Amino acid sequence: MRKIQMVDTKTQYLAIKDQVDAAIQEVLDSASYINGKSVKDFTQHLANYLKVDYVIPCANGTDALQIAMMALGLKPGDEVITPSFTYIATTEVVGLLGLTPVFVDVDPVTYCMDVESLKKAITPKTKAIVPVHLYGQAAPMEEIMEIAKANNLFVIEDNAQAIGCDYTFSNGVTKKTGTIGHIGATSFYPSKNLGAFGDGGALFTNDKALADKMAMIANHGQSERYYHDVVGCNSRLDSIQAAVLNIKLQHLDEYSKARQAVAKFYSDAFVSIPQIVTPAIAKYTTHVFHQYTMQVKGIDREKLIAHLAAKDIPCMIYYPVPGHLQKMFGGEQNQHLYLPVTNQLTPVVCSLPIHTEMDAEQLGYIVEGVQSFFK
Ligand SMILES: *Cc1c(COP(=O)(O)O)cnc(C)c1O
Repeated sequence: MRKIQMVDTKTQYLAIKDQVDAAIQEVLDSASYINGKSVKDFTQHLANYLKVDYVIPCANGTDALQIAMMALGLKPGDEVITPSFTYIATTEVVGLLGLTPVFVDVDPVTYCMDVESLKKAITPKTKAIVPVHLYGQAAPMEEIMEIAKANNLFVIEDNAQAIGCDYTFSNGVTKKTGTIGHIGATSFYPSKNLGAFGDGGALFTNDKALADKMAMIANHGQSERYYHDVVGCNSRLDSIQAAVLNIKLQHLDEYSKARQAVAKFYSDAFVSIPQIVTPAIAKYTTHVFHQYTMQVKGIDREKLIAHLAAKDIPCMIYYPVPGHLQKMFGGEQNQHLYLPVTNQLTPVVCSLPIHTEMDAEQLGYIVEGVQSFFK
């Protein structure tokens, strides 16, 4: 049996090696490593795939979030509402720009931003909401957009874990996550659902003025060569990464299906284990399963992890410390914040290996490994 890994980017590469190698060779032959043809092609193909007007490439997902907040003109003191239960990048950039993160709770079923918690967190200083499509399913965007509109707030979707996910509005209209808010931000980190062979990121918007501003900020605030209108940063997607992504984008839907099949296999196998809460999918969204995150209740999670580790089955905690309790935001001082679902989920979540190249033998072995713990 092939070694079981949380993600297996090597086997995925080997399956499309000829295509990828040829695309990389083309960049090498062109010697156009920055802003080459592959970057323009990829951004156009991604815009077509997402059905969004503008895709602005950048260096990574964290930069994408930062550039989005800079483009919206957020100023120190402005409050930005984000879930505490997310990867740190979402909230870190809020702190980096001197903005004030306001942590809200998540829904216990979807692990995404809780609408009631969001409503309560809005103050006169609130400027933006950053919902995260955590683990690969959409936050409740229709409600979030209504709340944003009523309160004159910007919405930046953190789509780093959900590229390819579809959100369906109550009127039946379906849109890709990341294209619903004012701006969507994503990451092409190698382990993401659409992963490069290095770092990468992108921004999405249907607003031309915002698109121009974000492109300018990502390029040293430059309007024309050597004329710099605003303070920006240096954040580029290089041509080799774009070439790889161009190939992988063609496979993204089949990759999502492969992940969904793994998730279904796990969930079907665990229905008879009462201590496991398998991931649920909200009615309004598809789930592209960046992670398969279950909750384990009434057992010692560390013992389960050790039991699996002894069988060479990796298993990860995403994330062991919620944002509001990270030292960078005051740590223990934030203990008083009322985030009951976040605090309840953190000690019980547990993510199993999920990727596009898992075979039946590996899946059977993992399921047996988990089941044997509960016997
Ligand atoms: C990965 C990730 C990011 C950051 O992306 P990088 O490319 O690593 O900077 C941001 N938000 C979420 C939810 C992520 O999972």
